Amino acid sequence: KWRQPEIKRTKTVCTYCGVSCSFEMFTRDRQILKVQPVVEAPVNGISTCIKGKFAWDFVNSEKRLTTPLIRENGRFREASWDEALDLVARRLLDIRDMHGPDSIGFIGSSKASNEEAYLTQKIARLIVGTNSVDNSSRYCQNPATKGLFRTVGHGGDAGSIEDIEKADLVIIVGSNLSENHPVIASKVKAAKKHRGQKLIVADLRKHEMAERADIFMRPKASTDLVWASTLARYMFDHGYADTEFLNSKVNQVEEYRKSLEPFTLEFAEEITGIPREQLIEAGEMIGKAKSVCLLWAMGITQHSHGANTSTALSNLLVVTGNYGRPGTGGYPMRGHNNVQGASDFGCLKNMYPGYEKVTDDKVRAKWAKAWGVAPDELSDQVGEDNFLMVQHAKEGKVKAMYVIGEETAFSDADSTNVHEAFTKLDFLVVQDIFLSRTAEFADVVLPGCPSVEKEGTFVNTERRIQRFYEVMPPLGDSRPDWRILTDLAARMGHDWGYNHPSEIMDEVAGIAEIFAGVTYERLEGWKSLSWPVKADGTDTPLLYTDGFHTDDGKAVLFPLEWEKPAEEADGEYDLILDNGRMLEQFQSTNQTGRGPRIWSLSPNWFVEVSPELAQELGISEGTWLEVTSRRGTVEVPAVITDRVSGRDLFMPIHQGKPGINKLTGEHHDPDVNTPAYKETAVKVRVM
Ligand code: SF4
Repeated sequence: KWRQPEIKRTKTVCTYCGVSCSFEMFTRDRQILKVQPVVEAPVNGISTCIKGKFAWDFVNSEKRLTTPLIRENGRFREASWDEALDLVARRLLDIRDMHGPDSIGFIGSSKASNEEAYLTQKIARLIVGTNSVDNSSRYCQNPATKGLFRTVGHGGDAGSIEDIEKADLVIIVGSNLSENHPVIASKVKAAKKHRGQKLIVADLRKHEMAERADIFMRPKASTDLVWASTLARYMFDHGYADTEFLNSKVNQVEEYRKSLEPFTLEFAEEITGIPREQLIEAGEMIGKAKSVCLLWAMGITQHSHGANTSTALSNLLVVTGNYGRPGTGGYPMRGHNNVQGASDFGCLKNMYPGYEKVTDDKVRAKWAKAWGVAPDELSDQVGEDNFLMVQHAKEGKVKAMYVIGEETAFSDADSTNVHEAFTKLDFLVVQDIFLSRTAEFADVVLPGCPSVEKEGTFVNTERRIQRFYEVMPPLGDSRPDWRILTDLAARMGHDWGYNHPSEIMDEVAGIAEIFAGVTYERLEGWKSLSWPVKADGTDTPLLYTDGFHTDDGKAVLFPLEWEKPAEEADGEYDLILDNGRMLEQFQSTNQTGRGPRIWSLSPNWFVEVSPELAQELGISEGTWLEVTSRRGTVEVPAVITDRVSGRDLFMPIHQGKPGINKLTGEHHDPDVNTPAYKETAVKVRVM
């Protein structure tokens, strides 16, 4: 006799942004009935945004990959797991033996779990013998991490979301917070409304938080380092620098102060276009605030000097003593749900899990011992990052790549160049849940699972580690990514025998100091831990209360000069194209594009044009434009809005064929190899 299947409730964690809201998912078999947040959820309580609530239809999409695929005579055919994994193992080992370990590059997923990131780098380092492993933080927050490493020592957010709520003053720079981190934005809005929290926004674009700000500064593109350094000088010149903090807790104060000499209010007004009076108003507000949190995102980092601008922002916080107290600190807003965790757990070219340097002999000896090999079996050379892997694939030096859950063919800058690089590879493996645009170039495609079909942990933007549970079993013959990597390692001669992700976490905790006290038991249910976590389970929601993470425990003020962007508008390409995300979509739309409920809210690509530019060029609402950069041309309809001003344009990164990266270029930040997506000079033609 037929019986209605029971309704199951499972705790999971949202995979659509670095806030990592957690909630219960109500399911009947594979049908997702509803998503319900609970008061116990540590980050969000009873809040979520529209994606967390309604963007899960992709899980049951008929386009999901359910069996491995092998390319044969230019076409994919279905294959068994044994055949596909045997082929991948054999080809990777052959290429390593023939061309050396550094001829193979790994791109780990910023959407997969911490345990899966750990296994990705373990295969690269231990089995292949290369440190060429990276994740999508290269495209977004690596410059911010660099700025924090330089000044305060840890690359993660200084405190928690609760600290942002507590701050006297929040400064948001180059971040469309209400669309990209909606739950944090709602907390800032509430703090402003109920507690009188002050808000300064600096952005090219007048988004919702800019409209709500007490001060909205609109600098010219790529000039943020100038206003930030000018305000740091203003603090010294007007008695707002925290001299007690500087004297006792900071190095290089005088050297830094001297470097600020060029940053006068006049210079800042000339370079940034921000009126002097507004700079003074912002300086007074920052100087008088008892506690300041500064949030920034890709509007700062995706430039040719994003690491320097991130450093300048952190310098400003150090000058005013805004680290190590509740309601203070620097907060790069992480985009992907686990971009923090992918980096924390070792998908970086220069660091083992826990930010332990591959070039440090003692560190290497420790990891070698834990993995049961001699230290000289692990490479002491910094590997290649995503950017270099692609460049060197094009040049024929990188022969094989293994890409997990990343849409490199769509999301990396200058996509024409990336496509050319992929066609030159001898062997490309893609592990994904869909036949993505990157997978179309692959030799072997391995079907992984989304978070709701496996267990694991994620780290959110505030360094908080949370567990997620299996809501439903893997679809078809797809497998959890940690299982695929374990099976592959066994075929490459390393039978690790993991039966559950908790065993992987136990292994990491036994080696990497910052995770010493992380266990699945301590993360049970709604519990969470913010790294570093001591062996006794004590975690650290607020960093730097006992000094900075540097050799002598002191912060460093890092002198900087302003440099022009690598690409500027000129007589021919006379407009600057900004780009970014939208509330309803996620990255390449591989997930949100496969759920009609969420996709239908913003299916169309567009370019935002200012009213003054529209009038100058005779553009009306909906007019189709040909937008051309030095790399290529796209066709897109215009939306006329004062969200952009003057000769700046804005396009979402999600929609469109071929998409925004037909236009962006190879120019990048030399400190971190992050592409300067936001420095794209274009011209338009009315069609
Ligand atoms: Fe998901 Fe971010 Fe929305 Fe929370 S704020 S529900 S984590 S997309």
